Amino acid sequence: MLEHDYVIGAALDAGFDVCGVAVSGPVDPALRSHFTGRLERGCYGTMEWLGRHADMRFDPGKLMEGARSVVVCGKGYTLYGSGASVASYAMGEDYHRELRRLLERVCDALVRDGAHLVRPFVDSAPVAERYWAVKAGLGAIGHSGMVINSSLGGAFLICGVVTDAECDRYDTPSAYDPCGTCGRCAASCPSGAIEGRGVIDASKCRSYLTIEHRGELSPAQAAAVGGGTTVFGCDECLKVCPHNKIAKAPIPHPFDIGAREWLAMGSGRFKREYGHTPMSRISVSMLRRNAALVSGSDAAGADAYVAADDNPVNAFAADGSDAEYP
Ligand code: SF4
Ligand code: SF4
Repeated sequence: MLEHDYVIGAALDAGFDVCGVAVSGPVDPALRSHFTGRLERGCYGTMEWLGRHADMRFDPGKLMEGARSVVVCGKGYTLYGSGASVASYAMGEDYHRELRRLLERVCDALVRDGAHLVRPFVDSAPVAERYWAVKAGLGAIGHSGMVINSSLGGAFLICGVVTDAECDRYDTPSAYDPCGTCGRCAASCPSGAIEGRGVIDASKCRSYLTIEHRGELSPAQAAAVGGGTTVFGCDECLKVCPHNKIAKAPIPHPFDIGAREWLAMGSGRFKREYGHTPMSRISVSMLRRNAALVSGSDAAGADAYVAADDNPVNAFAADGSDAEYP
């Protein structure tokens, strides 16, 4: 049996900022029907693949036979100020690799503490990560759809481990209400993508449109991308949230370049300089499409940058946007 304090200590020692442990089991049926309904209504844009492996997504026991516990870990990141051309979480090494390295240390500790089976996840498996973060007491879903932690705010990455080991004590969702009557994120969202508390229409969200959207953009979608400064992702709802701290430091090279330089980027340079970052999620033609929109191009002009065959879609979302809390 796992010792709760030992697990939390192992995660913090590994380098995570927060950790909690939840009892594994099927997720709240309301979440599943909410997700399925929104998927059918096209609220996830072209990410129809989110519907695959639904049984696993909504029950860790289907992902790993005998699952008893879900250990959820969070790692904060620096949120940069206005004018950045790339979302803050993507400024640096691909976080998947770093978090997986840290999770390996957590897995080793779980095995030392009695676990036989461990299944880490970092956007790499169909897991409702935000749901489990709430269940494990890491925070509460804010109006922006982010999990808000009382010390980290919403600027942290979520990952974890499903294991067959039972824990001597489990965390529970907190009664923390991070939002009250605030509503700043919805008011500042440039495309009206925040429809209600924690309910985001991905097909309108600039983060989705610049990273995940495949195919042509509607004029409204093109305007949502073109109205901002970022060619990859969007930090607007994070930047206005009073729980988040904004760094005063300048944006580190090589991300501090303007839309016109992104527009001129060739595939060789993109691969060489950004292949190790989360930006490798998109092709260089998609990057240039986004840069064209930010530079003032219309949808047709920008779509011309996107070749039909160079946008492989990974199995799972790179930004953890795989589920919404009802
Ligand atoms: S990431 Fe940007 S576009 Fe998406 S919900 Fe937040 S503010 Fe709106
Ligand atoms: S900006 Fe306000 S309403 Fe939105 S998540 Fe933060 S606290 Fe909640």
